[in-house]
Amino acid sequence: HSLKNSRRVADNEPLLRFREAKKVLGDVYGELKDNVAELEGVYKEIKENDFVSAEQREEIEAIRDSIKTIMDTFQRDNMKVVFFGRTSNGKSTTINAMLHEKVLPQGMGHTTCCFLQVEGSEDEVGHLQLDDNPQKIDMKMLGKIGHALSDENSDLPAMGQDSLLRVFHPKQTESGECRLLQNDVVILDSPGVDLSPEFDSWIDKHCLDADVFVLVSNAESTLTQAEKNFFLRVAKKLSKPNVFILNNRWDASAAETENIEDVKKQHLTRFRQFLVDELEVCSEREVNDRIFFVSSREVLESRLKARGLVQKAYQAEGHGTRALEFQNFERHFEQCISRSAIHTKFEAHNRRAHEMIGKMRLNLNSVLTSAAEQRSKLQNELNEATRTFNECRVNFTQFEKAYREQTEQLRAEVHLKVSADFFE
Ligand code: GDP
Repeated sequence: HSLKNSRRVADNEPLLRFREAKKVLGDVYGELKDNVAELEGVYKEIKENDFVSAEQREEIEAIRDSIKTIMDTFQRDNMKVVFFGRTSNGKSTTINAMLHEKVLPQGMGHTTCCFLQVEGSEDEVGHLQLDDNPQKIDMKMLGKIGHALSDENSDLPAMGQDSLLRVFHPKQTESGECRLLQNDVVILDSPGVDLSPEFDSWIDKHCLDADVFVLVSNAESTLTQAEKNFFLRVAKKLSKPNVFILNNRWDASAAETENIEDVKKQHLTRFRQFLVDELEVCSEREVNDRIFFVSSREVLESRLKARGLVQKAYQAEGHGTRALEFQNFERHFEQCISRSAIHTKFEAHNRRAHEMIGKMRLNLNSVLTSAAEQRSKLQNELNEATRTFNECRVNFTQFEKAYREQTEQLRAEVHLKVSADFFE
């Protein structure tokens, strides 16, 4: 019933489907946990009998522990999107536009020299954290991170190139709620692909659990070999990754280029070829919903204005079409990330639940079999005892009869003897 509901919700709100799936899975595991606890209780009560072996008890305990671990894990599961592209193509601007807020620093001065991961926080005030270090760092450090890294006197712990700076941003702020963060989407902004060729360790460390990759390209130039190489590696390591391409700064191209439609066609042909033929990550049919021509700056500014965060929004001619294209991208992106995350993350948990139920059934069956064996053994013993007892009873009756006869006879003999003596 709940799955049906979630399907209905999914048509309008794909992001909600992930949370709904999490809830359904939570209920399934909750019931499984109760069943295991009940079985464990029953096994404890019948400890005196030997038809529940130590192995069977241990297996139930192990299932109980796995359920706990899995329940903890999927509470933390999320939908992950990784942004890639050269520096200054507009990755941070695009992320901010999608968040309807200026969360990440943007602009030429800022060097994203490590991975920045934006995730939702229940707190009212955001904070930063480095890798798994629990120490909370003031949000103000975010804009200074580039400088802080090169400053030996910095308060920040040491960071490597593939370190992860986690940005915990409030899900709900004064200006409104953040839909993506509210719905467990985690956004990863990468160092510009032009800055470091250390792709392999990046991919292994940060991208293997990604559901979607967004390549932010600069519409004014073509893809570089570095950008292509990165995705070729990703496609090799992950089977059929979901890749979107945003031709950003389309406002600038439209303003400067006369034959803009021809340029757009050229870009489309190249990107289609890249996704379909070179990366082989989507079909001719799917590719149309993977390439978009946008202006993240226009979208960000109009969204900031709508929230009353800025007075004026930058908008160039033709902004309406680009804004629709951006929304179209977001719609396809949300459907894709939710489908992928449910498929990869929850299907595994679902499979585990099936396995555990199968193990529990086998465990119970073998306990029942040995209980039945024990019962028939006891039954045989009881039958044997009854037979012996009956034999005893027969023997005893015979003995009693013989005894009575003997005593009667004895008494008669004694009586005769006594009377004889008397008469003598
Ligand atoms: P990143 O290094 O890829 O994260 O790029 P940023 O998001 O920091 O953007 C670099 C610069 O390009 C900033 O000054 C942005 O304002 C500008 N920018 C980003 N997107 C657009 C866009 O769509 N149009 C225009 N005209 N400028 C943009």
